[in-house]
Amino acid sequence: MKFADAPASPADRMTGGGPVKRWSFSTLDNFEACPKRVWFRTVQRVKVPPNDAMMRGNRVHDGLEKYLRGQVDFPDAALSEVAHVQFWLERLAPWRGLAIMEPRWGLDATWAPTGWWDDETWLWAKPDLVGLDIHDPAGSELTIVDFKTGKSYGKQLKHMRQLLVYAAAALSRYPSVQTFSLHVWYIDEKDDSLDRQIDRGAVQSFRARIHAQGMALTSETEFPATPSPRVCNWCDYRDVCDDAWRKTK
Ligand code: SF4
Repeated sequence: MKFADAPASPADRMTGGGPVKRWSFSTLDNFEACPKRVWFRTVQRVKVPPNDAMMRGNRVHDGLEKYLRGQVDFPDAALSEVAHVQFWLERLAPWRGLAIMEPRWGLDATWAPTGWWDDETWLWAKPDLVGLDIHDPAGSELTIVDFKTGKSYGKQLKHMRQLLVYAAAALSRYPSVQTFSLHVWYIDEKDDSLDRQIDRGAVQSFRARIHAQGMALTSETEFPATPSPRVCNWCDYRDVCDDAWRKTK
């Protein structure tokens, strides 16, 4: 397998051949929890209305985005729901007007950039905030931030893996970048963040591993259920799933 930074053959561009043509980190996370979830969501397209926590998270993200784009001086009503709003606004202030907000990165199976809806797009990555270090004219450091609402407890490993997928997706878009500065900011928890600096070589190694996992997802045709109390109790499809854990007991 050759990635975008080396000459790629047509075979390299082959995707998995299963019914899921494109994946994102959340698709992979669901697939690893229970493949049948992905069958409901992506193959059958079973719609689930957003719950209160999701709607609040969307409102807070929108408020932060408007603030960072310079569209509002003080955040609108959405950010009044954040207990430590002043702390986070001060932390965000250096990025106002400079950050790229929610870029939509499509990539093919060699991790070369594509348009979001291009036929060959295999992976979708959409970080909340991306910015080159303004003090580094060579553009050798890239900051990637994701904002999270809710509690961080027990989710840090998953969240950092998500940031690593974004860094892997940035490799071909930012060839001069040598260091990735990755941050998960837990907006509901004052001064709580997950921070990691990682060099380009380490991101390339990670990309090789996550590539195999993305290929397994896009090759899957059976989508077996893997019920357990831990995954089914938090599953959006438990009311419609015949394999849901509580129904088999
Ligand atoms: S309810 Fe359980 S078995 Fe069914 S899709 Fe969800 S996680 Fe999988």
